[in-house]
Amino acid sequence: MDVEHGQLLPDQAVATLGDRIVAVGNDADVARRWRGRQTLDGRNRYLIPGLWDMHVHFGGGEALIEENRALLPLYVAHGVTTVRDASGDLPLQVLDWRREIAEDSLFGPTLLSSGPKIEGLNPVWKGTIETGSEADVDRAIEQLKALNVDFVKITDSTLKPELFLYAIRQARAAGLRTSGHIPMQLTLDQVVDAGLSSIEHLGYAYNAGAKDEAAIAADFAAGRITRQEARARLDTGFDRDTAMAAYRKLAQKGVFVTPTLNGSRVIAYLDRDDHQGDDYLAYIGPGLRKTYEWRVQRAAGATPAQIEQRHARYQRVAAVIPLLQQAGVTIMAGTDAGFLNSFNYPGVGLHDELALFVELGLTPAQALSAATRAGPAWFGQLDQYGSIDEGKAADLVLLERNPLEDIQATRAIHTVLLRGAVQDRAALDRALADTHAKVAAWNAEAAR
Ligand SMILES: [Zn+2]
Repeated sequence: MDVEHGQLLPDQAVATLGDRIVAVGNDADVARRWRGRQTLDGRNRYLIPGLWDMHVHFGGGEALIEENRALLPLYVAHGVTTVRDASGDLPLQVLDWRREIAEDSLFGPTLLSSGPKIEGLNPVWKGTIETGSEADVDRAIEQLKALNVDFVKITDSTLKPELFLYAIRQARAAGLRTSGHIPMQLTLDQVVDAGLSSIEHLGYAYNAGAKDEAAIAADFAAGRITRQEARARLDTGFDRDTAMAAYRKLAQKGVFVTPTLNGSRVIAYLDRDDHQGDDYLAYIGPGLRKTYEWRVQRAAGATPAQIEQRHARYQRVAAVIPLLQQAGVTIMAGTDAGFLNSFNYPGVGLHDELALFVELGLTPAQALSAATRAGPAWFGQLDQYGSIDEGKAADLVLLERNPLEDIQATRAIHTVLLRGAVQDRAALDRALADTHAKVAAWNAEAAR
């Protein structure tokens, strides 16, 4: 399948050698030129490039290293061949996994990681490099370069807004892509002009649709309004034309957006949806499940009015997805799965995200592109990934049904090729069973 143009190419054969695709073309032609050591029957099936989840986390403390490691096979079992780790509190562990996976000594998706994120002093988020001055930021970027990170993640729980902008500029000057949350004191425009490469979470893109975004940011920066008041004004100030102008600028500047809708949806509707009986919990270790409680408890304390507000906000924010697409912004599929983000499940969550994109108005082809091409495009790796062409990575997913007709077909996985290694349905099921068994053992231990 050509996921760039959303087209089926019938009667094709693909030959792979090692971790590369070596031939693609008419079935009979490829069969004449290549003799396979192993062949897979693609008749009435659909081959797509491997899926990329562009926003995942690993964390929850040193005690949960094994539970986090057990999440890796879940991605592969769901056709996810690459994940972008957007930083957690086990950054050095994740960088070790990145190397072990690349060396094939650990089974998991190719890992691209920010390493420790840049933050302010004494931040909410752990596993960060704390910075309180420009010199601190310079040192942080040197440190991240030495760790050979794949990009830089910047969050703002305590980082000063001017240092946020400085960090973006300096990272960019060092040749590193940046991604992050956007401080309420700044407008999207300022952050984009500083050189941010991707916006995480759709809410930040939504805020740029407020007519008086700059005045709200200035009022909040000066302490004239609270964060809640700022949010309320951003909401009431949303204007379609303002949003479209902001999104056209994102498109023009090449800034991508990772909406992470699935996570927001789950949290917005925690009052209504009871997840305690979710089958997928059997794949999530007890320690990780415990990290889910933070948001569950926060949601449980909400008043009916707050619940109503949360639902309404989710709907309003989600509705900008088709506007981004219309404006030409590249949307990246990413889940925010991992620790803390309750019931947003590693692996299967990406399929939920794609289904949401289509529900909100994207075509299945656009959703598919968000999960196969947008990630490689962001990392400047379309020469290696994102299409089924000679010379590209043998990261492929063979589906039983056509995802261009129904996006749910991305769940109907027959076989995954992971860096050239064939993972047939039985192997994928074994990978799932393996994590399932580990979790069952940890559950038993926790219950003792
Ligand atoms: Zn996140």
